[in-house]
Amino acid sequence: AKAEGRNVHRFFEPAMDVAVQTRRSVELDLRVALAEQQFALAFQPFLDLSTNRIAGFEALVRWHHTVRGVVSPAAFVPIAEETGMIVPLGEWVLRRACHEAARWPQAVRVSVNLSPVQFRSGDIDATVIAALREAKLDPRRLELEITEGVLLQDNASTLAILHRLKGLGVRIAMDDFGTGYSSLGYLRAFPFDKIKIDRAFVADLSVRPDALAIVRAVTTLADSLGMTTTAEGVETEEQLAHLRDAGCTEVQGYLVSRPVAVEAVAPMLVGR
Ligand code: C2E
Ligand code: CA
Ligand code: CA
Ligand code: CA
Repeated sequence: AKAEGRNVHRFFEPAMDVAVQTRRSVELDLRVALAEQQFALAFQPFLDLSTNRIAGFEALVRWHHTVRGVVSPAAFVPIAEETGMIVPLGEWVLRRACHEAARWPQAVRVSVNLSPVQFRSGDIDATVIAALREAKLDPRRLELEITEGVLLQDNASTLAILHRLKGLGVRIAMDDFGTGYSSLGYLRAFPFDKIKIDRAFVADLSVRPDALAIVRAVTTLADSLGMTTTAEGVETEEQLAHLRDAGCTEVQGYLVSRPVAVEAVAPMLVGR
């Protein structure tokens, strides 16, 4: 057993070193990337089902890495959160998104994803206010997408920040609804303007009848709480038909459009 233990030790230690080194090198890369402006925003529209018009665009960060090409946020946002780099990066995203939205040919909304880490460290409300002021963007056009993780911190200051932002006219959306452990409790904790139904439920719509029941229940609940719903990850006409039928307010997904580069936003708004 002792020899085995040594082997295990010898086997795992270099691997762990590699993990730590990778994280350190990504952290360093992120620092350089921010300084050298290797980040860009992609914008994905969401469609209002009552008018069939674009109601707004969600800003999604992209990293144009000099060697690795375009890196998806799934690969670096968690590391940016662990290292705290999400704070300056998130601020950059907010400022960029507000700046761009202020130039669009229609006064549609812009949604920005906020990490729980941004709430924990620094004054996120001051950052939002500064971004709005700098861009001269009407606060009612800004929507902040937060996940349960933000409310999981369950401190008075998080709620106070959210209420302050809402007081300015900024809209607050609950992202990835249905994926956490106690989503219903969170709906009571804060008066969200909008609930984004996670794409896992949307994907199941055509294959599982219970998914339809869940979507219907969520739209009914949202309605009675005075909130709107946006279904994410809509890829097929069949899913869209179900969502219309269930009374969803907005849809977003590849069926409407993939996330597009900033230059492609204005033509989409003019064309409609
Ligand atoms: P999310 O906020 O849930 O964003 C939706 C993700 O689903 C995006 O991936 C989007 O490109 C993708 N998507 C949209 N429509 C479809 C569809 O029809 N089918 C499928 N399969 N996927 C679809 P993306 O851009 O790779 O972002 C992944 C996640 O990274 C986001 O999930 C969000 O949690 C995070 N993220 C992205 N940008 C930011 C940011 O600026 N700040 C923070 N904190 N997180 C961000
Ligand atoms: Ca989102
Ligand atoms: Ca989402
Ligand atoms: Ca997600």
